[in-house]
Amino acid sequence: MGLWLSEEQLLYKDEVQKMISDKVKPRAAEIDKTGEFPWDVKELFAEFGLFRLVVQPEYGGRDGLLLTLCVAIEEVARVCGASSMILGNQSLGASPLVLWANEEQQKKYLPKIASGEFLASFGLTESDAGSDVAAVKTRAVPDGNSYVINGSKIFITHGDIADVLVVFAKVEVDGKDKMTAFIVDQGTPGLSTGKLEKKMGLKGSSTAEIILDQVRVPADNIVGKIGDGFRIALDCLDKGRIMVGAMATGLAQGALDTALDYTGSAVYYGTPLAKSQDVQFNLADMETFIQASRSLTHAAAFKYDQKEDGYIRFSAMSKLFATDMVMDIANKAVDLLGDDGCSSDYPAERMMRDAKIFAIFEGTNQIQKLVIARDLLGK
Ligand SMILES: Cc1cc2nc3c(=O)[nH]c(=O)nc-3n(C[C@H](O)[C@H](O)[C@H](O)COP(=O)(O)OP(=O)(O)OC[C@H]3O[C@@H](n4cnc5c(N)ncnc54)[C@H](O)[C@@H]3O)c2cc1C
Repeated sequence: MGLWLSEEQLLYKDEVQKMISDKVKPRAAEIDKTGEFPWDVKELFAEFGLFRLVVQPEYGGRDGLLLTLCVAIEEVARVCGASSMILGNQSLGASPLVLWANEEQQKKYLPKIASGEFLASFGLTESDAGSDVAAVKTRAVPDGNSYVINGSKIFITHGDIADVLVVFAKVEVDGKDKMTAFIVDQGTPGLSTGKLEKKMGLKGSSTAEIILDQVRVPADNIVGKIGDGFRIALDCLDKGRIMVGAMATGLAQGALDTALDYTGSAVYYGTPLAKSQDVQFNLADMETFIQASRSLTHAAAFKYDQKEDGYIRFSAMSKLFATDMVMDIANKAVDLLGDDGCSSDYPAERMMRDAKIFAIFEGTNQIQKLVIARDLLGK
């Protein structure tokens, strides 16, 4: 289990597991039921220092390792998918700043993101630009020493509540469109929230339409240079996909925990359910696939941290494998609980609804297959 983890990471995993089990697990069903963003859980994460995992040490971060973040996020997702989105999205939202921002921008935002004072969001997707990132229509036009942004983004995690967003827009230079990343502070005139999605799962994590109507930002808010936006987006997604692999692995572990609890105590025809060989075969399959997923995800995070060749392929493979696997495991858990599997009195049905979404965001699994195949074929 600790193949890729240091002694310190293994100890940290236990610490996080205890805190999450004591404080977040008892809240999970309620968060799903109300569908409200759990501000208490966000405060808990801030107090425990979990947001420090998304930022480099010079700005208040812990160790700057993606693998440590994956270990923590797995433990959160194990009990509450929506709460895992708080940490996961903080990382995705911060990534353009962590990976590409200049010193001044990093000094301004990263300490606040690390402390949890600020929530961050990543604004890329539009109604006609999901998988096809290049189809973004949001535009930024220079005006003096600032840019005026117009357009809209959809399905932006925590876009309604984030203190800072990085928004991707096109800037025309010499007749050519250049994708560019802009920092937009919440409260900037012209920035507003449109539709809030009602989702099948991950209900406590808000998913918002963001409207940009004549939003003026200083030219200093450009991350990287004009035209770097496409590479920034891909860099952030290559990192984020490994984290989604960890979330899916954690959620699958939670579904197995639920199945083990239930089959260990339920008695059918006078015999504990777990004594049935068919049940045992299911549990064995679940454990095997979860361990395989964990190994692949940790390998991807380790390679990312070491900047080893091939980490992009491993990133896509970990997301592809883990997010398909979690659906199967959640489905098995619901089956093993029988009618109780369909009841909100047990966590299996919530986990099944939460599980599906992982295969869609940060690039669908079809897109992951394209990334893997292109890498294999050397394109
Ligand atoms: C809960 C949730 C949270 C999200 N959070 C964010 C966020 O914070 N920020 C953000 O920017 N976005 C976010 N998204 C958007 C998400 O990243 C997109 O939904 C995703 O990239 C897919 O885009 P799409 O939905 O437009 O699907 P499409 O691109 O329209 O794809 C539709 C189908 O076509 C397939 N397809 C598309 N192109 C190809 C191809 N070339 N080859 C084979 N198959 C293909 C897809 O796999 C899919 O099955 C979120 C989405 C969800 C559901």
